[in-house]
Amino acid sequence: MADIPVYRAQKGDFRWDGVDLHAYKDEGSAPFKDITRQTLFKRPDMAGELRYFEVAPGGHSTLERHQHVHAVMILRGRGRCLVGADIRTIEPLDLISIDPMQWHQFRAAPDEPLGFLCMVDIERDKPQLPTEDDLAELASNPEIAAFLASHSH
Ligand code: MN
Repeated sequence: MADIPVYRAQKGDFRWDGVDLHAYKDEGSAPFKDITRQTLFKRPDMAGELRYFEVAPGGHSTLERHQHVHAVMILRGRGRCLVGADIRTIEPLDLISIDPMQWHQFRAAPDEPLGFLCMVDIERDKPQLPTEDDLAELASNPEIAAFLASHSH
């Protein structure tokens, strides 16, 4: 691919040469807080793409599920994630696999950002957001209820 540089240096602070910094999702399309997205690898002759997301201290990703899967590696900071009914603390170099239709959310610690790589299919279904019923069902587990209500700051 002639238009894709072979080498792009990291510029410090988890930025890379020629990689634009974007909002995580379009504002208002889904609930989330304080996240940026960089697409590190995406090319037409590859079925997957690799993104870097960074959640600011106290921020969180959208609680969602979908048919496509995610492979995640934490690169920076600390936080917690919900995957299915499982809540884990996460730190750099931890790996997280998210199966089809598992509810998932990433939350940064109040005092540290949470940065992670996420590998995903380029062609993928649209994320589903929880209905009121889904939220009630999730919150029937007290641990999940506390996770979802946990305060950012
Ligand atoms: Mn997702």
